[in-house]
Amino acid sequence: MYDIIVIGAGPAGAAAAKTLAENGCRVLLAEKCRIPRYKSCSGQLIQKSLNLVERYFGEPVPSHTTCSPAENRGMVFTDDTGHTYVFPQPGLNVWRSSFDAWLTKKAAAAGAVVQDALNAVSCTAQDEAVLVRFRRADGSLYDERAEYVIDCEGVAGVIKRQLTGTVPDGITTYQTFHHGRIDLDPHYFYAYLQPELSEYDAWFNVKDGMLVLGVSVKNKEKESYYYDSFLSYMKKHHGLSVGKPERVDRWLMPRIKPGCAICYGIGRVLFAGEAAGFLNPMGEGISAGLESAYSAAQAVLKHRGDTEGIYSSYREGTAALHDYMKRQWSLVGGMAKTFSEMKQP
Ligand SMILES: Cc1cc2nc3c(=O)[nH]c(=O)nc-3n(C[C@H](O)[C@H](O)[C@H](O)COP(=O)(O)OP(=O)(O)OC[C@H]3O[C@@H](n4cnc5c(N)ncnc54)[C@H](O)[C@@H]3O)c2cc1C
Repeated sequence: MYDIIVIGAGPAGAAAAKTLAENGCRVLLAEKCRIPRYKSCSGQLIQKSLNLVERYFGEPVPSHTTCSPAENRGMVFTDDTGHTYVFPQPGLNVWRSSFDAWLTKKAAAAGAVVQDALNAVSCTAQDEAVLVRFRRADGSLYDERAEYVIDCEGVAGVIKRQLTGTVPDGITTYQTFHHGRIDLDPHYFYAYLQPELSEYDAWFNVKDGMLVLGVSVKNKEKESYYYDSFLSYMKKHHGLSVGKPERVDRWLMPRIKPGCAICYGIGRVLFAGEAAGFLNPMGEGISAGLESAYSAAQAVLKHRGDTEGIYSSYREGTAALHDYMKRQWSLVGGMAKTFSEMKQP
């Protein structure tokens, strides 16, 4: 029996597993994919993410996880009237496969048992523990028990869906990678909030010389309409010239609603990262994942055996993050009609 099972080896899962293992807990970190696994992401690490990595993982993000240009100098937002805002700040441009694999390696070095190709399919309360059923890559099932589970499955988690009986309300993201040309500085991440270009936002960034263009939509059927509009806009305003995409990917993002509700967990299963609903706008999903999962792990370390104490400590530990999240969404809500419901009075 493990003390804690952490589900999902993204930034949240790796941060929780590392924190618990280095404090003497027997930890299993289970990841359903083979590591390194692909995660659709712009891979922009803002200053806050870099600081959290140094604080929780004890060293700076290594250069082997970055792609070119490695340096990110900030974000450029175009609001729905076409006005541009530049938010300069130092950051890094990483491939999530390499970055997350490095975080997971650090969790393993701290003593966590890391198993990939291990899919958690259910969590059941059992006496003073949780029984987690896993499916291996060959289809066989096996069970593990732990005192607590920290579920860091990301947006499309099956465990959260089972325990809460809710289907996540997601936004579809669609992005394509191209060789080509554009007259924008590749060191910045660009977001476009005009309602004619996407139902939420459209974006552009550069990874290893490839031009990445993406749109997010509520309604998947409108994906190609918005994507074509965005490409035409980039051609007209920034001289975009691209051929057929080298890669296409589609993903889900949690749809954050006014109030930014967080689901901290059910019984002995805590949720962290996107699984809990932590997601900041302006490229801050990674920092929110790291910070929330670290707080969940700290709460378990401080109050093991006292589930209520764990929840109040977890809420308290993430109160500042939650307030910040509301402020950031309100800021974006004030800039664009696509997010206007997020604007706080
Ligand atoms: C297109 C796009 C661009 C983005 N760009 C940025 C950006 O530039 N900067 C930024 O900070 N954020 C960005 N984000 C947000 C960021 O990717 C997420 O917020 C972040 O990855 C959340 O971390 P997490 O650890 O909670 O979940 P994830 O990173 O999603 O990790 C969850 C892990 O759990 C595993 N898993 C799922 N179910 C199971 C299961 N049942 N059993 C075992 N394992 C399981 C998954 O395979 C995955 O490895 C972007 C998101 C998208 C979609």
